Amino acid sequence: MGKTAVSRFQVALATRSAGKIRELIPMLSAAHLSPVTLETLGVAESPAEGAVEAFETFEDNALAKARYFASLLPGLAVLADDSGLAVDALHGAPGVRSKRWSASGLTGQANDDANNAKLLAALADPALARTARYVCVAAIVWTADEWAEDAPQELHARGETVGRIAYAPRGVNGFGYDPYFESDELAMTFGEATTAAKERISHRGRAVRAALDAYTRARFTEKKDARNR
Ligand code: IMP
Repeated sequence: MGKTAVSRFQVALATRSAGKIRELIPMLSAAHLSPVTLETLGVAESPAEGAVEAFETFEDNALAKARYFASLLPGLAVLADDSGLAVDALHGAPGVRSKRWSASGLTGQANDDANNAKLLAALADPALARTARYVCVAAIVWTADEWAEDAPQELHARGETVGRIAYAPRGVNGFGYDPYFESDELAMTFGEATTAAKERISHRGRAVRAALDAYTRARFTEKKDARNR
């Protein structure tokens, strides 16, 4: 990518998930930033990507993804999120392994279906509590100037939202485990909620808003204040 293509307001979305991209774009726009996808940037999917998120915490995985894509996109700020479902009766599983929990080798909706089937089977015993939470850590890596000559800076923020696992799916919105996740705050599944309603209280909404807030303060507000002193 040529140097002239980089804007200080652009933020690369370090994900291949169409569901995440749909949710992230309005959040970036609300923060007066320009989201740009890996596809638009011409970053071809590589097997190395999957190996990046090999850690046991959402924090480590989110930072690893953001650092990996930042190394491919010099000068561009990169936002990555690592997220998952933590079910109390399953001791926090599937957790950081939420995406490939079923080990189905499938992708997209077929993979989501396999994960949801595994979730229902794991909670088949009626004695098990169905309480759960979604967790998300959003990480941003950037260089202080457009020409990427400074050392990269990074930050991360965590968001959570609580609910319970439904016995049957409801709604067709969202992605992944959403049709089964009954949000305490919305009193409906994330599959039934609009994107805007989900974003207000979701793990991703909370983590990304906190990370973007810290990023814009660090990159734009504090610099401007220093210049005005
Ligand atoms: P990763 O963050 O790309 O490693 O994958 C997160 C996985 O957790 C997704 O593939 C989903 O299975 C699940 N997940 C995370 N956030 C959500 C959400 O907002 N809705 C539904 N599933 C989610």
